[in-house]
Amino acid sequence: MNSLLDRAENLGANRYLDTRGTINEPIPFTQAVIQGLAPGGGLFVPEALPQFTLDEITSLAELPYPERAARIYEAFNIDLADEAIARLMDASYGANFDVPEVCPITPLADGIHLLELWHGPTSAFKDMALQCLPNFFAASAAKLKGEGKLDTDLCILVATSGDTGKAALEGFKGVDGVCVGVLYPDGGVSDIQRKQMVTTTGNNVHVWALRGNFDDCQRMVKRIFADDAFASELADAGWALSSANSINWGRLLPQIVYYISGYASMMASGAISAGQALDVCVPTGNFGNILAAWYAKQMGTPIDQLFCASNENRVLTDFINTGTYDISSREFVLTPSPSMDILVSSNLERQLFELTGRDGGAISQWMADLNGSRRFQVDKDTFARLRETFRADAITNAECLETIKRVFDEQGYLMDPHTAVAFAAAENLKGINPVLVASTAHWAKFGDNVYRALHGIAPGEALPPEAAGLTGCQLNRLIAEETGKHDIPAGLAGLDDAEARFTTVLDADEPATEQAVEAFISTQNG
Ligand SMILES: *Cc1c(COP(=O)(O)O)cnc(C)c1O
Repeated sequence: MNSLLDRAENLGANRYLDTRGTINEPIPFTQAVIQGLAPGGGLFVPEALPQFTLDEITSLAELPYPERAARIYEAFNIDLADEAIARLMDASYGANFDVPEVCPITPLADGIHLLELWHGPTSAFKDMALQCLPNFFAASAAKLKGEGKLDTDLCILVATSGDTGKAALEGFKGVDGVCVGVLYPDGGVSDIQRKQMVTTTGNNVHVWALRGNFDDCQRMVKRIFADDAFASELADAGWALSSANSINWGRLLPQIVYYISGYASMMASGAISAGQALDVCVPTGNFGNILAAWYAKQMGTPIDQLFCASNENRVLTDFINTGTYDISSREFVLTPSPSMDILVSSNLERQLFELTGRDGGAISQWMADLNGSRRFQVDKDTFARLRETFRADAITNAECLETIKRVFDEQGYLMDPHTAVAFAAAENLKGINPVLVASTAHWAKFGDNVYRALHGIAPGEALPPEAAGLTGCQLNRLIAEETGKHDIPAGLAGLDDAEARFTTVLDADEPATEQAVEAFISTQNG
């Protein structure tokens, strides 16, 4: 295999620069994946974007999904051999997904199509990236170790509001040379989400609840990352910390794949004609998933407009409509779509880097403004370029729940609240083009709010006696009986019976939290 790796290097693999222009020498894919974030705080982007002709996109439709993904990774000219890429993709997108198409497309009325990204083991779209990234992470670490550029194993620390934590646990469990620890807010995730995390099997995983909210978890993770004394203790024990959140380019690349692949599938099924313009609508908070669609468009996919769908945390929609990103006077709102309850949207930085013609100086200034005065305003040209491609809409909590009920009543399709936000935005923004809506979670992952939607019960209002006090699994079974939707994924259905392995609750800002992480890592040696 080494000679193959050498060949990839001799061909001059694509390299990665950072959005704030701080690294002097661009680095290869494998290093960008292991490093996650550039030293100056910038995000990695590829030097060159491959281009696909319509014929090449058309021919993807004849391939199974793992081969489509491999074609696209190979076109990105990453510094792993084509044979290795093909093998890793087979391992990433196989029987771990509950349909052979991996992410099938369901047509609904009025030219709106759903790209179902939730057929993986944790029933949210995070699996599309986090079933793939761990395989490439392990291969990258092995390559760097072989070249003498890495001499530790890696411990991935994740702060989660629910979906990322479980997807990372499931993706990284059992991966050699890697362990993963997850911090979630105690009482801040749904019954289903908590049970999904604390019942994870595998020896290289650990989960802690933290008294506090998601921001407290994030702060603890950042503090641990910034603790040099802790880092050197870990290094002595043969470990380094790493991250698998959505700023890692290795999470973005698998998301580009499904937009190109989705276009190919729609041509093959006759949903669109060859080369027909398609609009794409994405429910987003961190701007990762919609950015992936933008890259797919840049690479030659005939995508026209990108619709950014926000919930009541509408900072991105306001930005796209005004050119000013402002969180100085904004309250964080809890919504039925918690996975997009976010105010600081980290992947927007990559989008702005691209829209400014890769002006690292401008990005550094805007990020400094955001840090200081909690707002920044882009220049006129950048705003004009943003408006050429993006439209945006924000959906209220009430509209989200009404949409779930209306689509179920009229079309018999049951959607989760995140998908409903995007569906409602797509209806509002749709022009003459068909729209592909990213459907990001199975309804049963958010059964509580789906039940409220179907019964017209507002968020926060008490559930009726027949539903009050039920576990998440029991409530899902009730919904299945009422709606006839008996497609509750296997990974969710049995959670009440699975053993809870992780029950520790930690306090934010206490030494005990770092000690707990350290104690876990020490069990990983030998
Ligand atoms: C994470 C998540 C989103 C938001 O994705 P972005 O990374 O913010 O684009 C939307 N829906 C679900 C179900 C999610 O888990």
